[in-house]
Amino acid sequence: VKERGRNGYAFYHDGMEAETRSRRRLEQDLRHAERHGQLELAYQPQAEVATGRVIGFEVLLRWHHPEHGPVPPDVFIPLAEATGAIVPIGTWVLRRACAEAAGWREPLGIAVNVSPVQLQRPGLVETVRATLEATGLDPSRLELEVTEGVLVRDGERALVVLNEVKALGVTVAMDDFGTGYSSLSTLRAFPFDRIKVDRSFVRDLGTSAEAAAIVRAVVGLGRGLGMPVIAEGVETAAQRDVLAANRCGVMQGYLVGQPGPIESFEALTSGSAGR
Ligand code: C2E
Ligand code: CA
Ligand code: CA
Ligand code: CA
Repeated sequence: VKERGRNGYAFYHDGMEAETRSRRRLEQDLRHAERHGQLELAYQPQAEVATGRVIGFEVLLRWHHPEHGPVPPDVFIPLAEATGAIVPIGTWVLRRACAEAAGWREPLGIAVNVSPVQLQRPGLVETVRATLEATGLDPSRLELEVTEGVLVRDGERALVVLNEVKALGVTVAMDDFGTGYSSLSTLRAFPFDRIKVDRSFVRDLGTSAEAAAIVRAVVGLGRGLGMPVIAEGVETAAQRDVLAANRCGVMQGYLVGQPGPIESFEALTSGSAGR
């Protein structure tokens, strides 16, 4: 790993061989990252657009590599998926997040990303069930975020798994809405509770009438389907105002808060019984 890229991190090597070596090295490091205390959870608040009131948090995984420093999830999640390490790591994330949320003073929501690989392998439903039981978290406070990729590839199995998860009382959100190949048919085929409209659409709100029209349409679609919409990547008051004008219910983004350690949100969560 030599050069810093767009998100501060990228692979760059002269030859394929070196790149493969570096990738394999990173994969190996990742297998031990949890045991060595290199993984952490960052929490990002989600708030009502109309009032600014925080109603929950999305959990985002962070990896602090001993030599390379922070490695972005866009780099290491695909590696963990390729090796299958995402399964134990994902279980760890779920367990930590639910235990944390169970100790909060207010019954705020907690949203956890689930990789397609976790959905495809057996055991996800049992992992969620056991986690709820062990942590005592009210299932209605837990939301799993899934992207449509898995649903397109192995739709029948995914449908069964999502229905079993929902039977536990957990909700399911469609993540990155609008970026996939068949977002509309996916919405029709799966029992989502919420739609997260991708930040690529939110970015131009306030400057582009087209972007506003798309978000308005998605909000209307969600209303018709009984799936409230949450806007991702909201950075400015102008974007928030367009969301409010179009009755988008919930927002997430730097305007509300950057992802950070749960301690930085103590005012909202304190009374914590520990982690
Ligand atoms: P995502 O699920 O779409 O998560 C939202 C990403 O947008 C996060 O990037 C977050 O830091 C970033 N973000 C939030 N608000 C803003 C904003 O106002 N402006 C901008 N420009 N960005 C914003 P992050 O933390 O780098 O995570 C990237 C992706 O990695 C996530 O995208 C998710 O797909 C994946 N990921 C992160 N944690 C986990 C995890 O525990 N499990 C799995 N399977 N995937 C994860
Ligand atoms: Ca997400
Ligand atoms: Ca997303
Ligand atoms: Ca994303």
